[in-house]
Amino acid sequence: MTLDRRNFIKLVGGASGLALAGCASQGPAVSAGSAAELMPKGTARRVVVVGGGYGGTIAAKYIRMLDPSIEVVLVERNKEFISCPFSNFYIAGLMNDMSSLTIRYDKLAANHGIKMVYAEVTAIDPAAKKVVTTQGTLAYDRLIVSPGIDFRTEEIEGYDAKTPEIFPHAWKAGPQSTLLRNQLQSMKDGGTVIISMPLTPYRCPPGPYERSCLIAHYLKKHKPKSKLILLDANPDVVSKKPLFTKAWSTYYKDNFQYIGGKKVTKVDVGAKLVSIEGIEDFKGDVINLIPAQRAGDIAVKAGLVGDDKKWCPVDAVSFQSTKHKDIHVIGDATALPSDGPPMPKSGYSANSQAKFCAQNVVNLMNGKEPVEFSGINVCYSAISDHESVSIASVFKVENGKIKSPATAISPADFSQAKMEHAYGESWLRNILTEMST
Ligand SMILES: Cc1cc2nc3c(=O)[nH]c(=O)nc-3n(C[C@H](O)[C@H](O)[C@H](O)COP(=O)(O)OP(=O)(O)OC[C@H]3O[C@@H](n4cnc5c(N)ncnc54)[C@H](O)[C@@H]3O)c2cc1C
Repeated sequence: MTLDRRNFIKLVGGASGLALAGCASQGPAVSAGSAAELMPKGTARRVVVVGGGYGGTIAAKYIRMLDPSIEVVLVERNKEFISCPFSNFYIAGLMNDMSSLTIRYDKLAANHGIKMVYAEVTAIDPAAKKVVTTQGTLAYDRLIVSPGIDFRTEEIEGYDAKTPEIFPHAWKAGPQSTLLRNQLQSMKDGGTVIISMPLTPYRCPPGPYERSCLIAHYLKKHKPKSKLILLDANPDVVSKKPLFTKAWSTYYKDNFQYIGGKKVTKVDVGAKLVSIEGIEDFKGDVINLIPAQRAGDIAVKAGLVGDDKKWCPVDAVSFQSTKHKDIHVIGDATALPSDGPPMPKSGYSANSQAKFCAQNVVNLMNGKEPVEFSGINVCYSAISDHESVSIASVFKVENGKIKSPATAISPADFSQAKMEHAYGESWLRNILTEMST
């Protein structure tokens, strides 16, 4: 990073301010009606962060901790964030409500001087360096985008806006989780539950298998004549296979069936049917249809996704977008160049990535070289109401690609499963506290 680059950043920062002043009628990404400036940028350098979830909160916090001279504005559509991790417990009736999964932003903002904007980001204008929100526009020097996922529902025939109201995905925690829980609780004993999961990559590789264990646990206890079918679009179990298959065959053998290679391509909500390639139908009383995924809508709209139109390619060291300058993408939305198994789309990964992204944004803004990414991911998955298993991996960058030199999974005899259950609960409490204070 040279002085020239620093001056260039200043210059572009100034230019964006000028562009903003006269932007109302310019640029296809900015709608004239919403172009009022929300929070005029003063002389301080500014980072705008889009999305206050697992990645965005941590990126915002660490930038302020690393360089308090940088102004940070965090834009989030909701006043509260509900964690997907552990939402399967709520769905399966093992938590009364989602209060322990819910965080607010007040303390985070006050403790670190982060400026919160509660608004929907509707467009990003990389040329003018500003984001357009439902409250007005915001100029930035650098932008970090962590919008999570949205669904490729267009790939399923018959799927429309009403489908998730009948076949909930519950793959974003909140009302969808409550709907699925309520459907399970009102189902008659003797009913059939179907979980349909998509091809990789999707948010949280072990998540659907954990959900199958916890729902099977619920059925075994409360509706023992019922059964659960897990339709996996992948040909085989993609995460912690020996552990999940053992849990299914030892704990749930009477009410659970796993079927690999079954990609749902068509739905009929009236008939409560999901169809595989038009040749095989499955009928269920409760259908949890988790569609295929891609980066959150705003990343797609802003042209941050690659040729696949699904995920956002980024540099593995700095998380800078390869599509647009001065924009970084972290969390589920990314497509990281990988040599070997990719970093899973998890809250733990998003947290790890956010810290390195924050460090490198600060370095780049201060004319320093980026530091090489080295991250961790640990995913705990419940196999019953009191036992969990885990997979832990470390990641580092080699020749511009993410590589995982070491991975470990829990012992196959479940000898540590009770202890790991406690570790998992502790992990959740710690990470949500880190995100909200
Ligand atoms: C059932 C389930 C269980 C899981 N269990 C685990 C687990 O045990 N461990 C683990 O590590 N991970 C787990 N995950 C995965 C984890 O939830 C995600 O990987 C993580 O949330 C990704 O972080 P993110 O920052 O990319 O997205 P998110 O955390 O989803 O944050 C995105 C934020 O951006 C906001 N946003 C999006 N678009 C806009 C916009 N246009 N304007 C304003 N705001 C916007 C959203 O409202 C949201 O708050 C689980 C997921 C599921 C579904």
